[in-house]
Amino acid sequence: TVDLLTFGESMVSLRSTGPLASGGTLNMQVAGAESNVAIGVARLGHTASWAGSVGADPHGEFILKQLRGEGVHLHLSVHPERSTGVMFLEQRTADLSRAYYYRAGSAGAAIARSQVAAAMDCGARILHLTGITAALSAEARDAVEYAAERAAGDGMVVSLDVNYRSKLWSRDQARSVLGPLARHATIVIASDDELDLIAPPQAGSGAAGAAGGEAAAASRLLEAGVREVVVKRGAAGAAVYTADAVIEAPAIAVTCVDTVGAGDAFTAGYLSALLDGDGVPARLRRGVLAGAFAVSTRGDWEGLPRLDELALLDAVRGSTLR
Ligand code: ATP
Repeated sequence: TVDLLTFGESMVSLRSTGPLASGGTLNMQVAGAESNVAIGVARLGHTASWAGSVGADPHGEFILKQLRGEGVHLHLSVHPERSTGVMFLEQRTADLSRAYYYRAGSAGAAIARSQVAAAMDCGARILHLTGITAALSAEARDAVEYAAERAAGDGMVVSLDVNYRSKLWSRDQARSVLGPLARHATIVIASDDELDLIAPPQAGSGAAGAAGGEAAAASRLLEAGVREVVVKRGAAGAAVYTADAVIEAPAIAVTCVDTVGAGDAFTAGYLSALLDGDGVPARLRRGVLAGAFAVSTRGDWEGLPRLDELALLDAVRGSTLR
């Protein structure tokens, strides 16, 4: 049994330091929301497994080496014909990045129920799912639905991050898949602009779920059986709605150099504190702290903290620890 199991597509991200149309040097890194969470949880002292599929190519091998190096357990398949997905991450200006995906028909999209079933046979305390995996392909969506239902039936904690990606599906498509999935979720994690993709529609309001705002959407999710509705608000911090209370935390003031991966860092922090037996306020605090590490370091996951580094952000800004 591991502490956390997750599955999805990891790609290589080719990062530029300037406009892509001008060429220049690209830096290759591992990208993938689910593997980011697995790495974050592993760094914070828990065991984490990632199930996924890569191509029989060197960039697939690079992904596996990186994940293994971070101590993530792998339930892996290497697809004989398909390629590992690729994305470009263009630093267009200091304040704006653009992503270009080359992932359609990738090896990662071929993840199927049988592979997830084998990973689940090994046991896990938390199953972490994302809306990205559900959007990859019919097989991947089936795998997510299977895993959610089985885990809920087995009494596992099921965490579901909406992680809406407009390049993979429309908001209506996402809503039709994620709404039913939420019934199996213990913890729903969403950005404030994603709640309407997962909350049950307000009575009489048709398909557009979130009419009535964040608190109303959260309470409909709680009524549907979700125990914690976690809302990420970027530089404004985060909130958790439970049946008993709404708990809010401001973001931690840091110098923001790269926002990619902040949400995954937050999730890793939140879930690692849950695994440590912490209550909701401490989970939220750990999530906000991990998010602050992510935005104040470059890379999707490279700057995520180890347990003994969590107090680092208490140091005076600009200090050198000697
Ligand atoms: P992404 O999809 O880019 O990973 P997200 O929308 O899922 O991001 P955010 O809400 O942007 O997630 O960020 C997650 C958490 O990280 C926030 O709740 C907050 O605690 C922290 N965070 C985000 N931006 C900042 C910032 N500028 N300064 C400090 N903390 C931040």
